[in-house]
Amino acid sequence: MNEQVSLCQPGNGKGCCVCCGLFNLRNVSSNVLSQFLTEASIEVSYGKIINNLFIRNYDSIKNIYDFRDSTTYVCPFMGFVFSDTPGCLLHPSVNNGIDSRDCSLFGKELCNDYFCPAYRILSDKEKKILIRCTYDWYSYSIGIMDPLSLRWIIQQVEGILNIQIIPGIEQENAIVRCINEALLMVGMLLNTLDCPLFYYSEPEYYLHMRMVSLNSESILNKNVRGEIKRLIINNTHY
Ligand code: SF4
Ligand code: SF4
Repeated sequence: MNEQVSLCQPGNGKGCCVCCGLFNLRNVSSNVLSQFLTEASIEVSYGKIINNLFIRNYDSIKNIYDFRDSTTYVCPFMGFVFSDTPGCLLHPSVNNGIDSRDCSLFGKELCNDYFCPAYRILSDKEKKILIRCTYDWYSYSIGIMDPLSLRWIIQQVEGILNIQIIPGIEQENAIVRCINEALLMVGMLLNTLDCPLFYYSEPEYYLHMRMVSLNSESILNKNVRGEIKRLIINNTHY
């Protein structure tokens, strides 16, 4: 198991709520997910003041938002833990040392111990590139959700430019921009699909995303693959 690099809260505005169900919303555009996280932050803060966290609950958010898979949990307690960073609003690190994650369906042990497919699929190098070459939590989350597309994007950048991306050193702006924008294109593709987008186990991920992930050619991803290659060529050749 490769768990050297923390993906959940790497800092600098990167944070992840993918396994908490964020991308189970029907509309996974950045605007809608930001709205969801902002509302959660406000409501959970108020719930802490009045000592009733359950003023925000699964049923209340289900009445407002369409979900992709109605059997998959969307935790009401994910929000912005800092102004630009999604995370768990009940985690002790942002909750005066109190761990209230048992209020969620999963409970604190599962919340604490779970590692998503990206943890095992991505190498340390790929994880570090994802952390360093994304502008914000949204493109970062796309890379977590679809690690094989991230790998394909990195391979394209390295192959087309005949370079090795070295995590840990400052990459050229053009390379960072390409990786970030390519992930946003994957996000747009995902938003057009009428199916679950995050899978909790690797076998499920491989099974359901094989027609979508950019590492395998399909009619579905053909256009995006072409657009990303053009993006890399046009944005990095001076
Ligand atoms: S999806 Fe993965 S990186 Fe994101 S919070 Fe869950 S375990 Fe962490
Ligand atoms: S309680 Fe668990 S599922 Fe809910 S936001 Fe926190 S870590 Fe995610």
